[in-house]
Amino acid sequence: MGKIVIPGRPPSDGEWQALTLRHAAPVLYAVRTTGIYCRDGCPARTPNRKNVSLFDTRASAEAAGFRACKRCWTV
Ligand SMILES: [Zn+2]
Repeated sequence: MGKIVIPGRPPSDGEWQALTLRHAAPVLYAVRTTGIYCRDGCPARTPNRKNVSLFDTRASAEAAGFRACKRCWTV
């Protein structure tokens, strides 16, 4: 489609630790295997780190083709 996809960035050690420990870190992470993005503290199972990309905004995650997780982005 010629659309530029911004893949996000891999989590740093500190960001990954915050994510897995469910700290209140400002982390918005997308999981490539499921095609959804979550925020820190999502009740879903912690994904494999190698499949995780971080984004700064929901808009950028959606621009990359990810959908919002229904469990942590309740409308
Ligand atoms: Zn979620």
